[in-house]
Amino acid sequence: MHMATVERKSSPEHEETSNRMFRSKEAMPMDTEVYESPYADPDELRSSTVDRNQLFLEDGELGSGNFGTVMKGIYKMRKTEKPVAVKILKNDDNNPSVREEMLREANVMQQLDNPYIVRMIGICEAENLMLVMELAELGPLNKFLQKNKNTSVKNITELVHQVSMGMKYLEEHNFVHRDLAARNVLLVTQHYAKISDFGLSKAVAEEQNYYKAKGHGKWPVKWYAPECINYFKFSSKSDVWSFGVLMWEAFSFGQKPYKGMKGNDVMQMLESGKRMEPPVNCPTEMYDLMTTCWTYKVEERPGFAVVEPRLREYYYDIAQ
Ligand code: ATP
Repeated sequence: MHMATVERKSSPEHEETSNRMFRSKEAMPMDTEVYESPYADPDELRSSTVDRNQLFLEDGELGSGNFGTVMKGIYKMRKTEKPVAVKILKNDDNNPSVREEMLREANVMQQLDNPYIVRMIGICEAENLMLVMELAELGPLNKFLQKNKNTSVKNITELVHQVSMGMKYLEEHNFVHRDLAARNVLLVTQHYAKISDFGLSKAVAEEQNYYKAKGHGKWPVKWYAPECINYFKFSSKSDVWSFGVLMWEAFSFGQKPYKGMKGNDVMQMLESGKRMEPPVNCPTEMYDLMTTCWTYKVEERPGFAVVEPRLREYYYDIAQ
């Protein structure tokens, strides 16, 4: 009896099944700690501020920008502790607008709650102003793909589909991102992507559905639709244009779009009706979708409500 049990456990067939189960378990977004909001548990206090005594910063930077640095940390909650990413504003008394920018970003993030968007856990005012967020440890999508050229088309499709789900949520809630690019998609695992960097994001009025910028700022021009550059008008449809560029970046394993070109040359190219070539080995279905995202006229360009199901269907087709 005993022997038989041992034999069954170690049979190659059994091992294959458990391996597969283990792999697919690891691959599912809902099995990670960051699928649900940390405040989904009613026993955890929902607050937009984080107590400095409950926050433990670790050595080593996750990234940096002109605002300061992003560090890894642990946030001790009532029942659990969460690994977190902490954006730490450098103390720069000469530049109060950086502080305002960070508070604006926090204000947008606080209103969003979706599995495919990096959630804010809270703001912490201590030795520096800190924005505490969910951790997406594998970092930016473009860098990940540059380093992992063996990533399959199916895997890339899965990730861009997740981004489209996050964007559909944003569209439904009348927010425009305005900085959607592969560098601003962070990976929790190789099979789980989240949209980040809400520094340029805006809530838009439902009736008007676009945001009008007052002037030209430091803009990611190569990701912007013609109406953004020409009329300073930003909508979910202009996010769709950026999403097309993000898809191009993903299927070309993190290459820079419109390589070697100046912003003005890109504008001229688009005005003349030309678009970027498909990335090497990019499935036709995916290149077709990119070019649809790059529809010149806003009224004719689809929204994420159309883009997301197209990606979903293609992903389901190839995932069989
Ligand atoms: P700037 O405001 O100067 O443009 P930035 O907007 O690029 O900077 P972020 O994208 O917010 O700054 O963060 C910089 C880097 O920190 C990211 O590229 C990423 O590597 C890391 N990072 C940011 N947020 C997280 C997170 N939630 N989890 C893991 N890493 C993160």
